[in-house]
Amino acid sequence: MSLSDTLKPLVIENFIGGSFVKSSKYLDSFDPSTGEIWAQIPDSDPTDVDDAVQHARNAFPMWSKTTAAERAKILIKIADSIEENLDKLAQAESKDQGKPVSLAKRMDIPRAALNFRAFAESICHHVNISNNLPEMGCINFTVRNPVGVAALISPWNLPLYLLTFKIAPALASGNCVVCKPSEITSVTSWMLCKLIKDAGLPNGVLNMVFGTGSKAGEALINHQGVNVISFTGSTNVGRHIGKVAANNIKKVSLELGGKNAGIIFDDADLSKAVPATINSCFLNQGEICLCTSRIFVQRAIFEEFVQRLVKETKNLKVGPPTEDVFMGPLVSQVHLDKVRSYIDIARKDGARVLCGESVDELSLPAPYHKGYFIRPTIITELPDSSACMQEEIFGPVVCLSPFDSEEEVIERVNNVKYGLCSAVWGQKGDRLLRVAQQLHVGTVWINCWLVRSLDMPFGGMKESGIGREGTSHSLELYTEETTICYKYQ
Ligand code: NAD
Repeated sequence: MSLSDTLKPLVIENFIGGSFVKSSKYLDSFDPSTGEIWAQIPDSDPTDVDDAVQHARNAFPMWSKTTAAERAKILIKIADSIEENLDKLAQAESKDQGKPVSLAKRMDIPRAALNFRAFAESICHHVNISNNLPEMGCINFTVRNPVGVAALISPWNLPLYLLTFKIAPALASGNCVVCKPSEITSVTSWMLCKLIKDAGLPNGVLNMVFGTGSKAGEALINHQGVNVISFTGSTNVGRHIGKVAANNIKKVSLELGGKNAGIIFDDADLSKAVPATINSCFLNQGEICLCTSRIFVQRAIFEEFVQRLVKETKNLKVGPPTEDVFMGPLVSQVHLDKVRSYIDIARKDGARVLCGESVDELSLPAPYHKGYFIRPTIITELPDSSACMQEEIFGPVVCLSPFDSEEEVIERVNNVKYGLCSAVWGQKGDRLLRVAQQLHVGTVWINCWLVRSLDMPFGGMKESGIGREGTSHSLELYTEETTICYKYQ
């Protein structure tokens, strides 16, 4: 198995019961920088899904009885192997998703390795709670057991990074898994299966079925052999998965969309706030659920902030992701059309487009004419009621608006249906902490963005999701806890 340099598309296979299995039907997968077909992925159906779930169920009695140390040893081997294959994985992630190779090398692939390492280490140090009741002559303590078979469904924006954030805790805590990566970006998940097999994970513990959400995904979430569903993706699909899980009384975690705000107070250090905010808006083409898509700037510094933001954004290099660029293409033609449609909406709502799409030229040489490229775009003069200020765009588009008071900005930031994260910039610690505690989001960054400790809970409020993930928090999802009360006197 190698990444083909020939003109023939790479053909990938499901991974079921420890074997790579050919499919009878395939879907085309496109290179976003050229629009050409570069891979073919199985169009799995309910029979493939059933096969994968059965293998996971058969492997569960054995895997669930292994010790944490035995499981950790294999997970650490997988982490090492991801690191050894950094270049190959980063190139594949870039070709499949559109992100710069350099970004995949410093963010996506190292984080995938870290996911395995962090959960391997933490599972070995996990302690359960106990409560002694001497007056009753009893001691209470808890034990945790793996849930069974976990269905892991992931999106296209950080393919290996996000899928491994599910695989690692699920396996570390003794579950078997069936993964369904996004049909748009399946290649690195397939490459991971080979690394996992070589690391000695027993057959059937991890299974991977590729294909569409409506066929393979739907079969997986409805399968009676699945005990828990972990989903990262859009709010609409999450809403549907939540209903299916509720109907079948299955455990579920939903990591969904966002409409994240940056807040820039008038005492912010702009030499740091401007570049970090640009990163937060446009890193990975703005295709990170945590990207900033609304920026509220205190009125006294609004003009200066806008000028600096626009000037530096215009300098960002957009182009083929194999080159030294800040942004590659968006992931698909459909997504590019969606992002552009929001810029059209903004114009209809009376906005001014300060830079980017339709303002600045982007000319790329062949063979990139048919790629899904767009320049980072900054919009202003929009009412908060505009769809551009309310809905998730999930691309390199940000809307800027001035504010006057602390109370006003808290109210406006919270005035969306999402609640994933925010970034707040300023110097006055009391004000920053007051604001941070009143924002209805799962994560607030103060004077930074995207700094992640995997030991901290991660997740969203409101329509951004249900549940928290992290080295101890993921155990809530992937294990069942039993309280044992022992009368000793
Ligand atoms: P999506 O919801 O369209 O698809 C996500 C996954 O769900 C894919 O694997 C897809 O095939 C599958 N799917 C679709 N319909 C399904 C169904 N009926 N049953 C089972 N599975 C189904 O999302 P996307 O377009 O791939 O990703 C972008 C979205 O993901 C954005 O909304 C973004 O904010 C969100 N996201 C959230 C986080 C987070 O941590 N909160 C992280 C990354 C991305």
